[in-house]
Amino acid sequence: MPGGVEPSNLEKIFWPDSGLTKGDLLDYFDAIADVILPALRDRPLTVKRYPDGIDGFSFFQKNTPKYAPDWVKTVPLWAGSARRDVHYTLCNSKRTLLWLANQAAIELHPWLSRTGRLDQPDHLVFDLDPPPGQFDVAVKVALAMKELLDHHRIEGVVKTSGAKGIHVYIPIQRRFDYRAAREAAANLAQEVEERLPEVVTTEVRLAKRRGRLFLDIGRNAPGAHIVAPYSPRARSAATVSFPVAWDELRTVRPERFTIRTVPKIIGERGDVWKELMPRPQDLSALLSRAAAS
Ligand code: ATP
Ligand code: MN
Repeated sequence: MPGGVEPSNLEKIFWPDSGLTKGDLLDYFDAIADVILPALRDRPLTVKRYPDGIDGFSFFQKNTPKYAPDWVKTVPLWAGSARRDVHYTLCNSKRTLLWLANQAAIELHPWLSRTGRLDQPDHLVFDLDPPPGQFDVAVKVALAMKELLDHHRIEGVVKTSGAKGIHVYIPIQRRFDYRAAREAAANLAQEVEERLPEVVTTEVRLAKRRGRLFLDIGRNAPGAHIVAPYSPRARSAATVSFPVAWDELRTVRPERFTIRTVPKIIGERGDVWKELMPRPQDLSALLSRAAAS
């Protein structure tokens, strides 16, 4: 372990159905640090901690605890609701990553923007939540989105959530604020909904979704986050949110990407997320009014 992290309780079972322990979580982050760190760098981070494993008590944590080592980087951000600064962790080093793992931070949920320009996200995110057990519907909708993106000459990248659905990202030039990002995302989501009205809804109210896939653009907001690529999930099979090439999406098996299998896949294929990530793009085409600053 890099200096400063004294791992504890490594034998504790974290994923009972998979027989995986806290030690396995630390080993996983140790193995994939080089590919996950670029996706976390300089982004305020919310972690979801599971001190007793995935079936035990868990909580989202935004504020870095007072007992954190002094080498853990943080960024203070005013939380209006709490009327105090929240000291978000910046996971910019392997040592911090392993410290978080030792804190039982199974899930890592970074912001869409980075320090320096926290008001300007560098991607749009679409969260595809299919009806229960219908991952194939998420695939269908993601592919419909891909067609639409092609039509607009915009490039996106897709990953499994590691849980039930799919996340589509569109990297954008870092010069649009969250309001513009959200407007662009809403415009695109509306087009998807119009193309597949029986399958997709952007309806936030559960009762009105009627068995359709929920295309959620709610992540495109300051303070919102989404699970990081390569982050483990608190799911019984120890699945991981994993990038998928568009032409592999039709046949992808999300359950194949677990903390057991992913280190080997990355060993062979490298930083898949980086490889698949298009250049940051101009949002103007997706905005009804010119909202670029
Ligand atoms: P799934 O595929 O099951 O939908 P998901 O990670 O997309 O998995 P969602 O419930 O759709 O889960 O939520 C999307 C994102 O919103 C999460 O990755 C997380 O970052 C954030 N989120 C979800 N629930 C909460 C919550 N209770 N508090 C804060 N953030 C949340
Ligand atoms: Mn989701």
